[in-house]
Amino acid sequence: MKIFNTLSRTKEEFVPLTPGEVKMYVCGPTVYNFIHIGNARPMIVFDTVRRYFEYKGYHVNYVSNFTDVDDKIIKKAIEEGVDADTISRRYIEECKKDMAAMNVKPATVHPQATQEICGMLDMIRTLIDKGHAYVAKDGTVYFRTASFREYGKLSHKNMDELQSGFRELKVTGEEDKESPSDFVLWKPKKEGEPFWESPWCEGRPGWHIECSVMSKKYLGEQIDIHAGGEDLIFPHHENEIAQSESANDKTFARYWMHNGFLNIDNKKMSKSLGNFFTVREIGEKYDLQVLRFFMLSAHYRSPLNFSAELMESSKNGLERILTAVDRLRDLENTASGDTLTEKELEQQSAARELVAKYEAAMDDDFNTADAISAVFELVKLSNSTAGAESSRAYVEYLKSTIGQLCDVLGIITERREENLDAEVEKLIAERQQARRDKNFALADEIRQRLLDMGIVLEDTREGVKWKRA
Ligand code: AMP
Ligand code: ZN
Repeated sequence: MKIFNTLSRTKEEFVPLTPGEVKMYVCGPTVYNFIHIGNARPMIVFDTVRRYFEYKGYHVNYVSNFTDVDDKIIKKAIEEGVDADTISRRYIEECKKDMAAMNVKPATVHPQATQEICGMLDMIRTLIDKGHAYVAKDGTVYFRTASFREYGKLSHKNMDELQSGFRELKVTGEEDKESPSDFVLWKPKKEGEPFWESPWCEGRPGWHIECSVMSKKYLGEQIDIHAGGEDLIFPHHENEIAQSESANDKTFARYWMHNGFLNIDNKKMSKSLGNFFTVREIGEKYDLQVLRFFMLSAHYRSPLNFSAELMESSKNGLERILTAVDRLRDLENTASGDTLTEKELEQQSAARELVAKYEAAMDDDFNTADAISAVFELVKLSNSTAGAESSRAYVEYLKSTIGQLCDVLGIITERREENLDAEVEKLIAERQQARRDKNFALADEIRQRLLDMGIVLEDTREGVKWKRA
């Protein structure tokens, strides 16, 4: 498998630190509002990366944090007259709901910054002891970028460039910094803000330290993949490298992966620009599988422009796949024969070539756009070769293969059956109510409707059971 590594700016062969295992850390959202579909891009992209590793037989340890202490959270808390904690807890729950609705698997661990302060204090202490950090008069602790020779290696910036860039950005209160590129590890509290005790001052952590600490705690000093949106390359990931490698004296992450922006009218979708749609809003208009399919229709490193037309075309593409799987499911119900005919064996080998094409695309830096094309070819093959005369074995092979390839993309092809189940349950509940109300005509009518859907009811002592006819 090849992965484009931001560090080397080339595609490199993926070699895990431990054979058969992937240790992966993805920077998660700051939780002060509903997530927008720009935030959803890394979630969907890296969930797909994870799923593909699992498909290849790797065990993936996937850690993704929630930043739950931050200026924006505090501001929102003040606006609402509640604790910062109330805000972050609320939006973590909402974010988890959105993730589930987009079929993003929960991470192995979802650490939260405020739960990991002890680890942060430890790492900051180590950095001070080793001369990589210093304490200013007001108790602020800064990382000394001059002490890390490789500072700039991820963003490919050189130190002189950085210094001159930062010099223009004078921040009041940071006059004690030895160098303009030094960054905050710990800062004093301000009135009304959440704070923790520390040897330097009552205060709170800077943003970057949390990821170095949580990554080390849950995955170890060295990890395989560290990922996030491309806006995190500098300064966030550059600073994480400086902190982790200075504290641990080891290479931090071997592969750095960054997704391109989700744009709208060719501008980055972001809260600050106000040009965003939340996942919730999109979920009211579309099945979120469509959003997922749309996100994966482009290479993850390319910019992707959000538009109603592209969403429509994703909806149609997805529909084509789901219809083909529905058809195979119907055929499966009537077909017989456990062995493939000679003709079907030939067709199966054509299908296997398409699976190989799909895998080759995914092996090449997760080219989901080409992988989706291979799925479409498989759908075409299925529509033209599977029919009433096909063996059950062939139909099953096609159905499970398309299902499996879609599952790697996080697309559920069993969806209709699930929806159907929900509808059946609802009708059964309505029929029960009708019987309780002694409205037997309505109860019979519902029973007949279910029969028309191919559902047979059985009244048992434990309640109503149902099966497909
Ligand atoms: P934030 O909550 O701003 O820290 O962002 C959480 C994650 O979403 C980070 O990995 C960001 O890089 C990513 N992100 C934010 N906006 C966009 C966007 N418009 N397109 C792609 N990724 C984004
Ligand atoms: Zn991070």
